[in-house]
Amino acid sequence: MNKKLIAGNWKMNGSLAANDALVRALVAGLAGQGGCDVAVAVPAPYLAQVQSLVAGSALALAAQDVSAHEAGAYTGEVSALMLRDFAVRYALVGHSERRQYHAESDACVALKAQRALAAGITPIVCVGETLAEREAGETEAVVRRQLAAVIHVNGHCISEVVVAYEPVWAIGTGKTATPEQAQQVHAVLRAQLAAASDKAARIRLLYGGSMNAGNAQQLLAQPDIDGGLVGGASLKPADFLQIIAAAQ
Ligand code: PGA
Repeated sequence: MNKKLIAGNWKMNGSLAANDALVRALVAGLAGQGGCDVAVAVPAPYLAQVQSLVAGSALALAAQDVSAHEAGAYTGEVSALMLRDFAVRYALVGHSERRQYHAESDACVALKAQRALAAGITPIVCVGETLAEREAGETEAVVRRQLAAVIHVNGHCISEVVVAYEPVWAIGTGKTATPEQAQQVHAVLRAQLAAASDKAARIRLLYGGSMNAGNAQQLLAQPDIDGGLVGGASLKPADFLQIIAAAQ
């Protein structure tokens, strides 16, 4: 069984004062636990602040995005090498909010994963279907297409990525996929990875979409669910710590 990973995604939330309180509470709550890996994906301006707050703790730093470009004339972008300067361990790539509001294509997401890997940062590649796609019976085809692009570009290093299945209809809506629905898609992703890598069993597959203190345990008990990508509940230390406890 894989060591589980619980990653918080703060999205565009936070302030110097709020981050300080949240991260101090998490670091205190995590003292002495080592049963699973834990990370927080923070807005880029706060990387330095959170880097110093998590120093020496079990909490790892993650970014919410990374540029598909190496360096140069790309106003507003943050490169993988810049993230590495702040000891970033993971970077989300292809979150559905990036795909939806910033028109990120599968090809762009695959390049972002490649940039992260080249800089020694583990990409957390997000895939997931919309409600319309699920209702049209296209869930499997959509997630397979999204993952195939990343496998195609990252070939031999695919075992170094983390994959997060996040059904778009479950994100921020309070509608969680049932453990069976999530497991079904995770099994599809695992099989696709197995066709590309003999290390597929070791690739961590996270579930995301309204994961909370009440439903985490059942989701995390599924055979192919190796952790969670947690949005709203990661902003509340008591809830996030309960999810982490459920992953032990
Ligand atoms: P949520 O967000 O937990 O608030 O649904 C998950 C995510 O978008 O990563």
